Amino acid sequence: MAFEILHELRPGGPRLGRLRTGRGAVDTPAFIPVGTNATVKALTPEEVAETGAQMVLANAFHLYLRPGPEVVEQAGGLHAFMGWPGPILTDSGGYQVFSLARMRTIDDDGVTFRSPIDGSAHRLTPEAVIDLQRRLGSDVVMPLDVCLGYPHELAEARAALEQTVRWAERSRAHHLRAGSGVLFGIVQGGFEPALRAEAAQRMAALNFVGYAIGGLSVGEPADRTYALLEGVVAELPPQRPRYLMGVGSVPSLLEGIARGVDLFDCALPTRVARTGIIFTATGRINIRNAAYRHDLQPPDPTCPCKACARTTRAYLRHLFASDEMLGPRLATYHNLFFLGHLVADAREALRAGHYEPWMRGVLARYTTAW
Ligand SMILES: [Zn+2]
Repeated sequence: MAFEILHELRPGGPRLGRLRTGRGAVDTPAFIPVGTNATVKALTPEEVAETGAQMVLANAFHLYLRPGPEVVEQAGGLHAFMGWPGPILTDSGGYQVFSLARMRTIDDDGVTFRSPIDGSAHRLTPEAVIDLQRRLGSDVVMPLDVCLGYPHELAEARAALEQTVRWAERSRAHHLRAGSGVLFGIVQGGFEPALRAEAAQRMAALNFVGYAIGGLSVGEPADRTYALLEGVVAELPPQRPRYLMGVGSVPSLLEGIARGVDLFDCALPTRVARTGIIFTATGRINIRNAAYRHDLQPPDPTCPCKACARTTRAYLRHLFASDEMLGPRLATYHNLFFLGHLVADAREALRAGHYEPWMRGVLARYTTAW
């Protein structure tokens, strides 16, 4: 994999780039749709590509539990299994394991947990997580890390940082011996700026191909997220790609790009689409609202997607009110297209050298918090 910076407004500022992988290029800044179970829920791979996505994310933890890596391996890897020929990034599942608060125990060597599907006992170590992603055939591999909730004690954050760094060292060594794809490091460190900076420095010293920033946007105020992000970006090697995990609202995406982030993923745009929430240029709307019963405008009048070209708000509302499966499908397609189009416009503004005024204009029109 190679990462090329085509245009950078200033060090640590927004930048235009291209990530080249053996399975195709990703123009950055990019939004990566989430396909937890080897599917971006409700869409075919062709539809996902139509929305502008050049890479998808799958979750190694979920695929480990179901269908099991042996099934994916037998199919020829994740790309063949799910019918997506482009690059795939797999999340290690650290976040999901740590979400199983009462069902897991963590020790220095790894984490033991019970499957939320059938209660069976499992153990993941940093090495096992690298092996798992090799069996899946992932292009961009994430190491096992320790995720914190918000808020937390300083001592907890320190312990999580030390554990994450030790696991990153083991992951890196194992990946060099027996891995496939490229391995990113993950910067954790909680909400203390000094700990975050230290986490970034120690990960930078391990010389990863790219850097993920985890554990932000988990309930802390947005100003704090952006300040911590700036501190982390300042410590990372500038020529390596930066990936902000789990962030995908319109304001946080644009503010992240402004601070030099290249890659984003988030389940929010597709998750809320299935409940009838769609993004528009003036903010999100809930299409189930009675106000749209007679509204014959497209879901977002400014959006050039297929769903907006052929659908009205009244019809989309009717589909949701009738529990028709086309409703979630159209809403998902539109939301991903909306974000794909937004990052394409961001890249255009970067190329033209006026990203910040462009962003201020978009955010002035976008009147909802996310
Ligand atoms: Zn649309």
